[in-house]
Amino acid sequence: MSQEITVRDLSFKPFISHEAILTRVKEMALNIEKDYKDRNPVFLVVLTGAFRLAGDMASFIDFPCEWDFIKLSSYKDTRSTGAVDIEFDLTMDVKGRDLIILEDIIDTGLTMHFYMEYLKKHAPLSVRLASLLIKKEAMVYPVHIDYPGFFIENKFVVGYGLDYNHSGRNLNDLWQVI
Ligand code: 5GP
Repeated sequence: MSQEITVRDLSFKPFISHEAILTRVKEMALNIEKDYKDRNPVFLVVLTGAFRLAGDMASFIDFPCEWDFIKLSSYKDTRSTGAVDIEFDLTMDVKGRDLIILEDIIDTGLTMHFYMEYLKKHAPLSVRLASLLIKKEAMVYPVHIDYPGFFIENKFVVGYGLDYNHSGRNLNDLWQVI
């Protein structure tokens, strides 16, 4: 990892290496496997930020399961807008199914609080949440994270799927704003 990078008008310093991320994602996958091995769960990937997490999680998961993708947005620049848009929703019928939501980061908790409430109308059997990053001190809307990755301080980060105004998602490591 170099010492500093610039994404658009902001500078970022190294935060969590790709190697450390993969180690943690594998641990999360093994915990999920223990709980769901014989249940054929549905992974619900929250786009766009969780696309890297989903790819690596899938590579560590070796039991039958299904995948669907939803697109939610609540962020503009480096701040939450306070409202959640469902840009596109489930494509499969999840009634009576065990769901595992894969999210990149929980900040205020608004997005997941909103979506988990909304999911109730689809009558799943169960819903659990896996999030790579959690800004615990920023949480305003309580959400329970069943499979946490890293608890981090309340500073803006990019990389490994997370963007700054659409830029930086490709970066393999995580970077923290300076
Ligand atoms: P919440 O609804 O919990 O406040 O925010 C969740 C969403 O905000 C995440 O899915 C992500 O899109 C965005 N977000 C929150 N914090 C960060 C951050 O530090 N960096 C980036 N790139 N996105 C963030």
